[in-house]
Amino acid sequence: MRRYLWQQAEGRRHAYDSHTHPPGLGFTFTTLCGTEVRTGSEDIGKWLRPTCPTCDREIRERLGIP
Ligand SMILES: [Zn+2]
Repeated sequence: MRRYLWQQAEGRRHAYDSHTHPPGLGFTFTTLCGTEVRTGSEDIGKWLRPTCPTCDREIRERLGIP
């Protein structure tokens, strides 16, 4: 079963497929919007960045949420 997680990286809060990218700190992952981003120390603990609208739409489609 697919499982999607949210992670802030490079100025946006993106979603990613945890099947292809195990969660962790300071890692590079491919977002659902198709970008490869890397988490920095500023992304850990406090998520102040806006949600990526493309990831938000993509995750809803994949999970069947209207
Ligand atoms: Zn995104």
